[in-house]
Amino acid sequence: MPLIEPRLADVLSGADPNSPNDVGEVLLRLLRFAQQQGATDLHFRPQPDGLLVSWRRDGVAQPLARFSAEVAANYVGRLKVMSGLLTYRVEIPQEGRLRAEFLQDGVEVRVATFPTIHGERAVVRLFVASGRYLHLEDLGLPQDEREALQNMLWETGGLVLISGPAGSGKTTTAYACLRYLLRHFAEEKILLTLEDPVEAVLPSVGQSEVRPSAGFDYVTGLKSLLRHDPDVLMVGEIRDRGTAEIVFQAALTGHLVVSTFHAGSVGESVSRLLDLGIEPFVLQSGLLGVLSQRLVRRLCPDCRRPAEQDALGLPVAGHFVAAGCAACRQTGYRDRVLLIELLDTNLPGFDRHVLTRADARAIESAAAAAGMTTRWDRAVELVESGVTSAVEIRRVLGFR
Ligand SMILES: [Zn+2]
Repeated sequence: MPLIEPRLADVLSGADPNSPNDVGEVLLRLLRFAQQQGATDLHFRPQPDGLLVSWRRDGVAQPLARFSAEVAANYVGRLKVMSGLLTYRVEIPQEGRLRAEFLQDGVEVRVATFPTIHGERAVVRLFVASGRYLHLEDLGLPQDEREALQNMLWETGGLVLISGPAGSGKTTTAYACLRYLLRHFAEEKILLTLEDPVEAVLPSVGQSEVRPSAGFDYVTGLKSLLRHDPDVLMVGEIRDRGTAEIVFQAALTGHLVVSTFHAGSVGESVSRLLDLGIEPFVLQSGLLGVLSQRLVRRLCPDCRRPAEQDALGLPVAGHFVAAGCAACRQTGYRDRVLLIELLDTNLPGFDRHVLTRADARAIESAAAAAGMTTRWDRAVELVESGVTSAVEIRRVLGFR
């Protein structure tokens, strides 16, 4: 069996690929290894000549191990058993989660399968599993923004929105906000969540999951939850007008609401909420702030090189480019950092009336004029200080 990641040699040597116990043990070792190394996903990819296991680390997929075609189905099959999926159904997509006895630290691990022409593929989402980003202090937020965000969490009503594209770590930040609230108010506040699905179990938070197939969606769920007298609500994601409306209704009636939203910047978040039909005056009085975030890869400090070429139009005095060495597996990058901008609607000099305009640029300029450090300001800082490269910034933020 050709193996790709040398550190997994001991995991795989001696394991009998036809023994369910051995296969289960190999899968758990693979999962733990991926978790320890900070991977976010593990992919089981059936190919004509076998099963390729890849992991996604720092946003990039890389090969990890390979199993021969004869035993490929044993691995995906065992993973399905461990996740409570129907093993005899191989022709339909299935979704589940790793059964509790296989979990570490109560972190949910989601598993999904999909039939392909070479057999079933599977993906394991490791999510907030690494335990490195539990608290707001661990996220690498700039101090001013972290403190402003924490101040919002002391409010007794209003919406704190975490926005960004898919895979930008929004849920991790939302959980860090919940842990901050737990640390300060566990005794005196009632914290309830509605999620899809629950990503990590938090003690003394009333967590629940939507079940749309049973008519229990965000809108009906939130209506019911509001009758349970919460102080704080965490809503997994605002995806539609109905959810947005009830979230703002909650925010305006004495509840602190933390939620996530799919948008590329603070300006875009506000204009998309208006597009969803939120009344401008509701937005003005209900929105405490928007944290817009992206993840950018950090240049490997061992091999980055000062650049000679221009910085793809970024206004920087100097910058670095990626090279590649053993420490970064020849990628030139190691780990990721948050690239954020925070709209604090209480920023002195910020006119909340600007929120009534559905123009993302106008909102952004008003916020910048009132002192918000924009994602572009932050990007220039990160490039100039060699934390990341101009190429990486353009990959993540585009060219405007
Ligand atoms: Zn390197």
